[in-house]
Amino acid sequence: MALIVQKYGGTSMGSVERIEHVAHKVASWRQQGHQVIVVVSAMSGETDRLLKLAKSIDPRGSKREFDQIAATGEQVTIGLLALALGKLGVQARSYTGWQVPIRTDDAHMKARIQDIDAQRLRNDCEAGIVPVVAGFQGICADNSVATLGRGGSDTTGVAIAAALKADECQIYTDVDGVYTTDPRVEPKARRLDRITFEEMLELASLGSKVLQIRSVEFAGKYKVPLRVLSTFVEGPGTLITLEDNKMEEPLISGIAFNRDEAQVTMTGVPDRPGIAAAILGPVGDANIEVDMIVQNVGGDGATDFTFTVHRNDYERALEVMRKVADELGAVGVSGATDIVKVSLVGVGMRSHAGIASQMFKSLASAGINIRMISTSEIKISVVIDEMYLELAVRTLHKAFGLEEAAA
Ligand code: ASP
Ligand code: MG
Repeated sequence: MALIVQKYGGTSMGSVERIEHVAHKVASWRQQGHQVIVVVSAMSGETDRLLKLAKSIDPRGSKREFDQIAATGEQVTIGLLALALGKLGVQARSYTGWQVPIRTDDAHMKARIQDIDAQRLRNDCEAGIVPVVAGFQGICADNSVATLGRGGSDTTGVAIAAALKADECQIYTDVDGVYTTDPRVEPKARRLDRITFEEMLELASLGSKVLQIRSVEFAGKYKVPLRVLSTFVEGPGTLITLEDNKMEEPLISGIAFNRDEAQVTMTGVPDRPGIAAAILGPVGDANIEVDMIVQNVGGDGATDFTFTVHRNDYERALEVMRKVADELGAVGVSGATDIVKVSLVGVGMRSHAGIASQMFKSLASAGINIRMISTSEIKISVVIDEMYLELAVRTLHKAFGLEEAAA
């Protein structure tokens, strides 16, 4: 018998029929003798609808009131699921965040969980009752409702699993696991049985948006085994867990990509101490997040400086750079938005040399030019022209044998 926290997302709660389907799933876990705590999202589209309502009155209105409004979506689904469970003869009790309580800081619309009182949930489990907890919400010090930011129910699920030392936190969604890459780009993409927290963070932050990033960080920190699986198709899903030294880790777990990048280059910058700070300082001051940075010294005492930013920040970044270029006496500023970042991710890279050169060779043989490169212990990223995204992903997927079943 295990203690399992199950989180069901908006699509899984999208209609009365789907909620009844979820109730059957929960009931079958109970019948197998497990203790189950359920965390739910609002019906899909509901949080958007609620926030739109709020904004229609005052887009710059009080965030406290936005939270008060947005949090109601989950209050409906916890009640509906508890009803559906009751109809199946499964004892269940719904809880909003404050009824648990889940205590958060007071950063409305992006609050962080500080503490969960596990007593009620534990008592229910021991009495054979399934607690159904509203995701995405908690209560802050002044007793206001606070929400955890969009997609925050994942974090609620993980935090409850951590607080109760659950055996597993299962995230039920509309995909049946984490894939080696996006199947819409590479139809041969394969579901991974297992992946480490670190790899998942890289894949998630690079655009494979299956889970809220914060929930994965949280699960890694508290060592909560996380499983992503489908509400609609039976299967083992993907287990996200700690690196296992006893096992041979696959070299590469997945290929992530990001279409939201733009590149900004300043050419002919005088090469002297303080240049990087002089360039990137004003970018930071403008609240623009910089991703990759490449600086390269030419023979003539001048240097070229290139970095990438989110496409939404591109125009602003160019503007800032033109000013800085004038001040520094640089030759010019240019940029591109038709670029993408493609990354190979795998903890197995740690113990293997030559992955980077294999990657570059594969891209070269496909005729793909690399604009920028950056590496970390478990990731190699390249910036390439957007028109080559699909080709690059498929080429690398094949070159690193990702389509074959794991050994
Ligand atoms: N309902 C919230 C949202 O749409 C939280 C969640 O679904 O995780 O962002
Ligand atoms: Mg979600």
